[in-house]
Amino acid sequence: MGHKITKSKDGFKVPSDPIIPFIEGDGTGPDIWKAAVKVMNAAVEKAYSGSREIEWKEIYAGEKAYKKTGQWLPKETEEAFREYLVGIKGPLTTPIGGGYKSLNVALRQKLNLYVCLRPVKYYEGVPSPVKKPQLIDAVIFRENTEDVYAGLEVKEGSDEARRLMKFLKDNFGWDIREDSGIGIKPISKSASERLIRAAIEYAIKYNRKSVTLVHKGNIQKFTEGAFLKWGYELAKREFGDRTATLKEAAEGKAENRIIIKDTIADIFLQQILTRSAEFDVVATTNLNGDYISDALAAQIGGMGIAPGANINFETGHAIFEATHGTAPKYAGKNVVNPGSLILSGEMMLEYIGWKEAAGMIDKSLTKTIAQHYVTYDFARLMHNATKVSTFEFAEKMIANMQIYE
Ligand code: NAP
Repeated sequence: MGHKITKSKDGFKVPSDPIIPFIEGDGTGPDIWKAAVKVMNAAVEKAYSGSREIEWKEIYAGEKAYKKTGQWLPKETEEAFREYLVGIKGPLTTPIGGGYKSLNVALRQKLNLYVCLRPVKYYEGVPSPVKKPQLIDAVIFRENTEDVYAGLEVKEGSDEARRLMKFLKDNFGWDIREDSGIGIKPISKSASERLIRAAIEYAIKYNRKSVTLVHKGNIQKFTEGAFLKWGYELAKREFGDRTATLKEAAEGKAENRIIIKDTIADIFLQQILTRSAEFDVVATTNLNGDYISDALAAQIGGMGIAPGANINFETGHAIFEATHGTAPKYAGKNVVNPGSLILSGEMMLEYIGWKEAAGMIDKSLTKTIAQHYVTYDFARLMHNATKVSTFEFAEKMIANMQIYE
């Protein structure tokens, strides 16, 4: 019988047989889950010669949960993630109509998973639309709880919209066109600071070079601009001896320090194409982060291979997930790329401190792609590929695993 992962102020306590809840997901979820769990189990088995083993605990959300319980997101699922701290999930169908919101957004909010973490790294041989994808090695920290995603919106023509407009006119003198829908963009100091703090701590822990604050502060001064200001202030106040600004770097005062810099979101999207190597850890607000994560994922080969996680670095709660959707037209066909979920599994193993197993996944994926064994999505863009199924890809990866020094 397995045991729970716990976290105290001294850090994580991970037993040799941790119970980890998983949701296999809808559509192609079961295909990629079957492949990913086999790879994760093999990596753990090989890295620790059988002395460690994950006890997987299936929990339900999405269509499978709805069929079983009549609920899209049963309370027990939320409670399992809360109780066992670390979990992993495949993609979930977003229920249509009936006022349902995305199940992913609901889970993030319920567990207060305030960082959406997306590493973006290139694997040699993956077809990419850019000339030098190997220069990209970024880790995006996207704020996950506020901004225009807070759900504070009123519909055009509604009574709420009329009342809000009147209030804004009476109290602020703001004229808004009558036929407008209105959304509110809250950006708080506390949520910005915890996100930026997590990004800087990550940069320090993994010996990264810089943290870039990406913002639209030139236009939105009190939200995006404030994010930027709070970011620099926090870096100085809490990490003064570990960080330096570009100005300090120019004065020769940045040795062994993380450089804190910033760029405007639209310019960032140009520079990541033209000067990819200049970006490392990125901290940004929710909407910017949404665009940036997908744009960067496209540069390294698309969503089929981009992993992600939603994390609360204070409580330790974390859900690792495939970043693409359910791709329903391929469901049950054993053809889609399991890379996103496999690499999310790698992130999860790294997060719980099982670095050897995580490293083994990284190296075997690199090797398998270098041997040109790839699923249809990559095969159609390559000249010399051997197209393999979802499950065959996992088997090739396992065959490539060795104890790496
Ligand atoms: P999608 O499921 O991501 O699929 C769009 C296209 O992306 C697919 O047709 C396929 O492209 C490609 N793709 C996705 N996963 C792939 C994989 N593993 N390997 C290779 N190619 C892959 O997006 P969608 O069709 O817009 O959304 C379908 C459902 O998923 C919706 O209910 C949506 O709400 C939900 N969704 C869930 C999540 C989540 O749970 N995190 C995220 C996004 C969307 P080709 O057709 O070119 O082969």
